[in-house]
Amino acid sequence: MREAPARRGRAALVRGRGTRFDVEDVEVRAPLGDEVLVEVDAVGMCHADLAARDGDFPVPLPAVLGHEGTGLVLDVGAQVQTVRRGDRVVLTFDACGSCAQCGAGAPTRCAHYMDRNFGADGADPPRHALRGQHSGAWTGFFGQSSFASLAIATARNAVPVRQDVDPVLLAPLGCAVQTGTGAVLTVARPTLGSTVVVVGLGPVGMSAVMAAARCSPAARVIAVDLDPRRLQVASDLGATDVLDATGTDPYDELRRDGGADVLVECSGSPRVLPEALGVLRPGGTCVLVGAPPFGTTTPLDVAAVVNRSLTIRGTVEGDARPRTTLPWLADRVADGTLAVHRLVRTYPLADVEVAARDMLAGDAVKPVLLP
Ligand SMILES: [Zn+2]
Ligand SMILES: [Zn+2]
Repeated sequence: MREAPARRGRAALVRGRGTRFDVEDVEVRAPLGDEVLVEVDAVGMCHADLAARDGDFPVPLPAVLGHEGTGLVLDVGAQVQTVRRGDRVVLTFDACGSCAQCGAGAPTRCAHYMDRNFGADGADPPRHALRGQHSGAWTGFFGQSSFASLAIATARNAVPVRQDVDPVLLAPLGCAVQTGTGAVLTVARPTLGSTVVVVGLGPVGMSAVMAAARCSPAARVIAVDLDPRRLQVASDLGATDVLDATGTDPYDELRRDGGADVLVECSGSPRVLPEALGVLRPGGTCVLVGAPPFGTTTPLDVAAVVNRSLTIRGTVEGDARPRTTLPWLADRVADGTLAVHRLVRTYPLADVEVAARDMLAGDAVKPVLLP
């Protein structure tokens, strides 16, 4: 069978561990089987992209990274039925769709999650969608590799959403926003009148604040961070209280203030969990969203967990079921409930290095690249 001609585009390539992004002309092959070719018009940058670039996530290199893409579908493979040419899609994490967890509607717990998103165990053939001189670059990051003007995803992780929302505001839904909102609304499920604490105000923490303040029956939403600029944004987004952890012990203050029913840990610091247990009221839940490096351990007061019936719960992508989660989130952006516009700052793809620097410096909460 003769292969359809490749299309020309641009992509940010990472050649080796810790190297910079190189934006180059690329050729992308046609989609095969269950694949979907997307013309990417906006893609968020997340810490996972930089962790993969720097080797903290083991991904095959050279590669195209990027995992918060959105765009219009240009073409689909022969097996695709759920997505059509011209659809606006938000790209999200990939899952196999056929293991027991996927069958039970829990794709974030997919048995092949590491392979499908990080090319980790080689169970799935690695995707190489580029042709010509870049044909050796891996393009399977989160099943999309969307730091590019053209990306090949699959019918499983390309989710159609409404057409009338600014793509810049849709892009972060596929990872950060669904993670933060899901951690609150799907995992912690705060009850009427409860107190929710969110630690760490990156895009995930900000999304958790918005979900708790604007979509849940919690009475108090307390945002904790070290950056006064971020505390101000959290306050604008609906946090009832903000706590600047600079030079003070925020956990001591939270305990004296009566504690909390839910604590959502978005900072990635292993020091938060032991402190959180002291803050939570009996029956409370600590949701761990921020991930320190693999193998990180921390001491725990086990008796406190037992005697006060505490729950410690990790979550990937906020337990999202993207096909229902993402259209719902797009509606909440459209009706103004989720003020994603307060988090984003846009950059042309050529300025991907500037975006990375601004994110690391804390100047941009959520950089969004425009390929
Ligand atoms: Zn699966
Ligand atoms: Zn992410």
